[in-house]
Amino acid sequence: MKTKIVFSEKCLGYGTWHIEGPQRVKLAHEVLKEQRYDFLEPEPATEDDLLRVHDGDYLWNLRKGLAEDADTPAYDNIYEFARLSAGGALLAARICGFSLMRPPGHHAGVFGAALGVATRGFCYLNNMAVAVKSLGKPTLILDVDGHHGNGTQEVFLGDPKVVYVSVHRHPHYPGTGFRSEGNCLNFPLPADIGEKRYLETLDRALSAVKDIDRFGVVGVSAGFDTYMGDLASLGLTDNTYWQVGKRIAALNKPTFFLLEGGYMGEKVGKGIDQLLKGFES
Ligand SMILES: [Zn+2]
Repeated sequence: MKTKIVFSEKCLGYGTWHIEGPQRVKLAHEVLKEQRYDFLEPEPATEDDLLRVHDGDYLWNLRKGLAEDADTPAYDNIYEFARLSAGGALLAARICGFSLMRPPGHHAGVFGAALGVATRGFCYLNNMAVAVKSLGKPTLILDVDGHHGNGTQEVFLGDPKVVYVSVHRHPHYPGTGFRSEGNCLNFPLPADIGEKRYLETLDRALSAVKDIDRFGVVGVSAGFDTYMGDLASLGLTDNTYWQVGKRIAALNKPTFFLLEGGYMGEKVGKGIDQLLKGFES
């Protein structure tokens, strides 16, 4: 069955001047519309959903427009945009869909910036963590964004129900994830490593997960800034994402996907389409 895409036009309503701007998701949406995916509208996550992951004072500051750092602006109503994106994650997790929403989430930790990093890397709420905590099932999180998901690691480090696996560029922003710690398995790679070594590393990463049968669900932090020439390029192509999708399908679990990075909009759309086609093949 074709994976459904969770999307609301509302997520295009802020930050036109920023690299994490609406254009990237708008163009991706157009590509996926041409490919005849079905789209579903999310509802915002509730404060209770968010409090399973984030500190109450951080949420208060975010709502009041007081949470700002060098790369993560305090836009007007950003709390509402972020809540809707987290709601997209909740819906995607329920229906095993793909959430094509912004802002992304994997750099956002419990108190905002995570693991001692100075900024939140364009993230406000950790969408993946909100979805995983809401499902409450043993979950394997696979993060294929080109940056390490320091926020997701911070939330789940030591959590016996969750294993976090990340393949990402290093050295690079945010500077974390250069080694594995406990239930957080990190696979750093140098810039523009290319498809062959990337897929070898992904295979190694997935085979490092012990006792895969115990997981009820797989959550994929799907970033496309690993595309050749994008912000965290690992020199990947459309074909690589198809191959990644095939490997995720081989885990044979209920699976949902959340958009993280990826800044070349049309490429993001093609990458999502190829990832899902590989997954469904
Ligand atoms: Zn990224």
